[in-house]
Amino acid sequence: MNTIFPKLKNDFQNDEVITTNIYKLIDKYSVNNHLSKDEFLFILDNITEKETRYLYKKAYDLKYEFYQNRVYLRALIEISNYCKMGCKYCGINNTVESIERYRLSVDEIIEYCALGYSLGYRTFVIQGGEDSYYTDDVLSLLLHRLKSEMPDTRITLSLGERSKKSYQILKDAGADRYLLRHETASKKLYNYLHPSYMSFENRRECLHNLKEIGYQVGAGFMVGTPSQTNKDLVDDLFFLKELNPHMVGIGPYLCHEDTELKGNMSGTLTESLIMVAMTRLLLPKVLLPATTALGSLHKIGREKALKVGANVMMPNISPTENRELYEIYQNKICTTDTSELCRNCVEARIVGVGHVIDLGVGDHIDLERVTNNARK
Ligand code: SF4
Repeated sequence: MNTIFPKLKNDFQNDEVITTNIYKLIDKYSVNNHLSKDEFLFILDNITEKETRYLYKKAYDLKYEFYQNRVYLRALIEISNYCKMGCKYCGINNTVESIERYRLSVDEIIEYCALGYSLGYRTFVIQGGEDSYYTDDVLSLLLHRLKSEMPDTRITLSLGERSKKSYQILKDAGADRYLLRHETASKKLYNYLHPSYMSFENRRECLHNLKEIGYQVGAGFMVGTPSQTNKDLVDDLFFLKELNPHMVGIGPYLCHEDTELKGNMSGTLTESLIMVAMTRLLLPKVLLPATTALGSLHKIGREKALKVGANVMMPNISPTENRELYEIYQNKICTTDTSELCRNCVEARIVGVGHVIDLGVGDHIDLERVTNNARK
């Protein structure tokens, strides 16, 4: 059963007038890449399976215009499941006692990235909880070594909220991109999902700081969190339009039974796919991952995302023995595979739905053009 979109049931059919109005709004959205709040709400409140097919086609066509059927691969390494934060939905938050904690040393991270490099990856996403072990000095050392040993790569950090000064130091040390999901653009929902010591304003400020410093920035949100409404999702679209990030990660909320939000329903595949497609139409050139959470929710969730506008996949290169411990949500896929298996599996999935892998560094298309022009 779906939680957000009230008419999204297989057997529900809108009358012709509503269907026509949704088609017209989707056409307008495809051209203008924005709508009013009321127009967005009209789509989300009324969309049925029938109209999703039209939305998906428009989103796929727009992706194709800029990126064709290429899918960029980012090798993901999960460096630590220690976290000082307490996001109530997250299985590695600081209150969860049932999990064994781990962190990787600089040498281990380099070793696994080098393995990823040998498998062809040229972008690494270094992700972890907010772990104070990784000071600016530790990360600077890591970044210098990565960039000197593998200079033709892009390094993405996904290590949470830090000061503007810290973001600048890490950029100077070689970081190219930073992923920091805004999680939700609704302050009320943010406060419901987070403890009082976490700040809605600070998270947004971090994103603005990252942009100002010159990172390629990734934002993003969850779909189907407890108490989320369509109005909250419209706020997400408006926030993204204003921030104009280079990447947007969208995944379903997946309930973890060891967290404060245990017992809630998870988000659904269709709800998530609708928001992926809506985001493609909002930001036509954005890099949009087919997230692991989608693949965990449905066995071909990532492939379906590629068909509705996604153009990035993030195979895991973490040490196999640690993967199960990075359990931000339950039933996560790829926890027992080796990096080689993940590489082959992801490629087969991409090719299987008529796409091709792109092992380039995969910058946002506007930056690609700047770099190419500078080379001429
Ligand atoms: S979502 Fe990120 S910041 Fe929040 S508790 Fe989990 S790892 Fe920490």
